[in-house]
Amino acid sequence: MSTEPASSASAVCDPTEAAARSGSQSFAASLPLLPGATLGILGGGQLGRMFTLAARTMGYKVMVLDPDETSPAGQMADIHLQAGYTDHAALRQLGAACAAVTTEFENVPAASLIELAGYCRVSPGAAAVAIVQDRSHEKSWLRDHGFATASFALVNSEADIEPALAATGSPALLKVSRFGYDGKGQARVATNAEARAAFREFGEQPCVLEGFVELEREVSVVLARDDQGECALFPVAENRHDNGILDLSIVPANVPEDLARQAREMARAVADKLGYVGVMAVEFFVAGGQLMINEIAPRPHNSGHYTLDGCVTDQFEQQVRVLCGLPLGDTRLLSPVVMVNILGDRWHNGGPHWADLLANPAIKLHLYGKESARPGRKMGHFNVLDADPQNALRLAERMRDAL
Ligand code: AMP
Repeated sequence: MSTEPASSASAVCDPTEAAARSGSQSFAASLPLLPGATLGILGGGQLGRMFTLAARTMGYKVMVLDPDETSPAGQMADIHLQAGYTDHAALRQLGAACAAVTTEFENVPAASLIELAGYCRVSPGAAAVAIVQDRSHEKSWLRDHGFATASFALVNSEADIEPALAATGSPALLKVSRFGYDGKGQARVATNAEARAAFREFGEQPCVLEGFVELEREVSVVLARDDQGECALFPVAENRHDNGILDLSIVPANVPEDLARQAREMARAVADKLGYVGVMAVEFFVAGGQLMINEIAPRPHNSGHYTLDGCVTDQFEQQVRVLCGLPLGDTRLLSPVVMVNILGDRWHNGGPHWADLLANPAIKLHLYGKESARPGRKMGHFNVLDADPQNALRLAERMRDAL
């Protein structure tokens, strides 16, 4: 343990004071954190698991905070603190034991990050997470900072619906502002009556109404930005979704070089304007040859899983590096690669059939240790590497369909 709690062990840290101390900067003197230090992570899902594996490979100890007894990251951690994300005693224990804490999901309460920042280095910071975890704030922030998005309007009450649909045009997508993911909390609507019905269905919580975009493609950029503002960007991924859930990522993306350059520049500009420190992803729509930002994820991203086998440094090692104040790793692509998600649906009808997948030396399997397989649940993924991107895609699709 390289840092002591900033306040007395029994007192709950004052969030305002902690915010003023702005977390990361307060503990900068102890950087870089070297192997042997203890790192913490809020959230024990698959992203936390892959962070934990990367950190332990590099010689760090890892403490995971997650209420789930069987969490994928908890299984891999040195210590699994089984408690909720707003549990003050658990946050204090995490902050006191760890030299630095990061997160693996955007819905971590910003107040918990502020609280933790009173004890140790925290990345990403609460301010950036608070913007991107709320779709209304995120979209408004993007517009106010000059980034192109789909047309949108905020819907906080039924009275907002008619003017919102007039502004976005029809059809449109009504999306809940908080806690939506993988297409959940979204409804396609064409009329005011449909939009009203969807708004009621969502419990009349704050929503964003978004114009429906005729997508040519979807692409994303994962990057890391450090305390000095240095940025390391991974290659652009082209993402194909099925039912709102990422099905596969193709790298390099099959887009003109100029579009790929623009995507990387926009992603970097978002990180700079957010003053972001950590790993983040920016998802884009491509329509009419132009980029629009769909959303920002303040964490490693599913569309960056190809880096595990395709790049010199993967996104989770990069998360460890930026958290520890180490130089950012080389993001070079070693081979064209296609990443395929393995969803719980594959467990029905006698699958998955691992033998063929594992028999192929060009395929790397990653499973997340989840105990129950439900439809739509991300259970693992595999990466297919081939010098010929077309071959990689063909093999990836064949293996996915045969699984
Ligand atoms: P989201 O959770 O907002 O990222 O949405 C999940 C997926 O739904 C996206 O990756 C797109 O494939 C699709 N989608 C979301 N918003 C729109 C939109 N405004 N127009 C067209 N497709 C969309």
